Amino acid sequence: MVKIIGAWASGKNISIWVVGGCVRDWILKRPTKDLDLVVEKGLEEVSRFCSKKWGGTLESFGQFGTKRLYLRSGLRLDLARTRAEIYSRPAVLPEVSTASLEKDLWRRDFTVNAMAVCLNSSAWGELVDHYGGCADLKKGLLRVLHAQSFRDDPTRIWRAARFLGRFGFRLESSTQESLEEAVRLGYPRLLSRERVRGELMRILEEKDPTRALGTLKKWGLTPFFHPKFRWDGGDFKDPEPYVRLGVICLKMGESGKEFLRSLNLERPVSQAISAAFEVAERLASPRMQLPELSRKILVCLIPHISPSALAPLRVNGRDLSQMGIPSGREYSQLLTKAAQAQWRGEFSNRSEALRWLRRLHSRR
Ligand code: ATP
Repeated sequence: MVKIIGAWASGKNISIWVVGGCVRDWILKRPTKDLDLVVEKGLEEVSRFCSKKWGGTLESFGQFGTKRLYLRSGLRLDLARTRAEIYSRPAVLPEVSTASLEKDLWRRDFTVNAMAVCLNSSAWGELVDHYGGCADLKKGLLRVLHAQSFRDDPTRIWRAARFLGRFGFRLESSTQESLEEAVRLGYPRLLSRERVRGELMRILEEKDPTRALGTLKKWGLTPFFHPKFRWDGGDFKDPEPYVRLGVICLKMGESGKEFLRSLNLERPVSQAISAAFEVAERLASPRMQLPELSRKILVCLIPHISPSALAPLRVNGRDLSQMGIPSGREYSQLLTKAAQAQWRGEFSNRSEALRWLRRLHSRR
């Protein structure tokens, strides 16, 4: 793909590079998820070419008209204009202006993410590495490009924890100092809730988020998720980030509910996590079919739970009325008892459940 794009762009006299994480991953010989391309001009033309050539859906976003192409193969292609960023205050979104590739690389988070590879035929495959990214990559060092980096954008602190965890790198010493200073000066507090949530979710998307979370804990940053954020290692058997989040919330108990509300997640997600909370608190099978997400959270939390305990209650109000029990308070008491019995595994199918219910009723 990059060869085709490079050859086409060369014919149109458009300079084009792959940048950022892809270059880092290519050098590390790790698979890449998506492809980030930058051009100094001709953004519209390149994006039109790619979408015509490979199909998929094309989106445009940001004040700078960045294009995102979701290809049918599942690959995501980001196309942007090279740009510089100016941060007027700590943690605000920057003012953006067009700039050279060199300046574009300067605005990035770490030297290892500030390299580019040229795709044009005349310089095909040439590495652009103005800031020593390749040397840092080989030494396993994470280094910011300038001392104000964490002040400008404190999400880079979370990104640092994530990359340190993923690659097993070390923080370069002056980077460590400026990170500690940014935390001491409270810059992370200036970030919007959405941005902190975004960083948390990206950590939970990692293959193994434990190292990143451990690092954030060590740096004193977990209270920015929630003052009572608690995470005591492990818990990430399921790869799905929302399952992992749900497990953390449930383990936090009452403060986990507050934490969940503060995240302002999409309604189906927060409802599913709340449903898992309810089942875990009542120690009773649910009345209705649990969303898949709730079920997965509970399975992670209680690994030996039987599928029957998480299945919808096998009896209902109609069964009670057919047994001649008059509707009223007793109904809900009986159903609650039945849900607890199903949770404990006292019956595992409907006929056993009905027998259990009859026995209970006859004893009353
Ligand atoms: P991942 O492998 O987790 O996707 P990535 O390095 O590709 O990591 P992205 O968030 O996809 O990270 O961003 C792509 C590139 O954009 C980064 O490599 C980096 O150059 C730049 N970048 C992203 N976020 C920031 C940021 N907050 N500050 C500076 N540069 C950033």
